[in-house]
Amino acid sequence: MKICRFDDNRLGLVEGDEVRDVTAAQEVLPSHCYPLPTFDPLMANLPRVIEEIHRIGPSAQILPLAGRRLLAPVANPGKVVAAPVNYRKHLEEARGDVSIHFDNQIREIQQIGLFLKASSSVVGASHGVEVQHPEGRNDHEAELVLVIGKPGRNIPRERAWDHIAAYTGGLDMTVRGPQERSMRKSIDSYTVVGPWMVTTDELRNPDELDFWLTVNGQPRQRANTRDLVLDIPTLIATASSYYTLHPGDLLFTGTPEGVGPVREGDVIEVEFGDIGRMFVDVRNAQRSYA
Ligand code: MN
Repeated sequence: MKICRFDDNRLGLVEGDEVRDVTAAQEVLPSHCYPLPTFDPLMANLPRVIEEIHRIGPSAQILPLAGRRLLAPVANPGKVVAAPVNYRKHLEEARGDVSIHFDNQIREIQQIGLFLKASSSVVGASHGVEVQHPEGRNDHEAELVLVIGKPGRNIPRERAWDHIAAYTGGLDMTVRGPQERSMRKSIDSYTVVGPWMVTTDELRNPDELDFWLTVNGQPRQRANTRDLVLDIPTLIATASSYYTLHPGDLLFTGTPEGVGPVREGDVIEVEFGDIGRMFVDVRNAQRSYA
């Protein structure tokens, strides 16, 4: 099942070039009072919502997908975990280019582990990327993203798949520089997620998924998730040995070689195997005080 969030916080079931408006399925979600949970309520209740989608889907309004505004498929991820240098060729590329590594020693992921991106940086495809420091080098990083469905900590590798509810595509946008990763990669809109999520029953090959990225039609990145250094179960096991994974947490699996800069006016096109394709506009951020 391909589930999207679109327009004014509508919930959609994507079918080819159409979307069924199944927003009413969200009525099964519990209401929350302050303090709000640190997990995403949709993902925490996804099986129940899917049941409801099956029930109301056949009579739901069908809309053309074209012209819909695509929001991040998870509205309230508690955290965004990400894998640095998780493809061998990207490690070599980063080590060989001072405008990527900025004299930070690039160590292997087995040594440096994972990092966090601010959840406030998450946007959907239609929002686009707002470049905050256009004087710097702002790079695209295409990555397969895991959406956690079931909570867990110290998850063993062999149980890792049980904790994933869906897959989606992601851009781990990055301003290059000597600063900490969490600062350079947490700028508003620097975590693009979409175009929608695909539930695990529908995507059978997440560990051998082809994906590619172009900028203004020019090829930049092309890879397959079989070349991940730390594979999907190892990423889940590693992350959950540091932080409890909650429903709706996003795990960016790392980017392959071919990272490069984007500027105002560019259009990033990125496709993740059977998940789908998204177009992401790049513009400059409003930099005055607000
Ligand atoms: Mn990345």
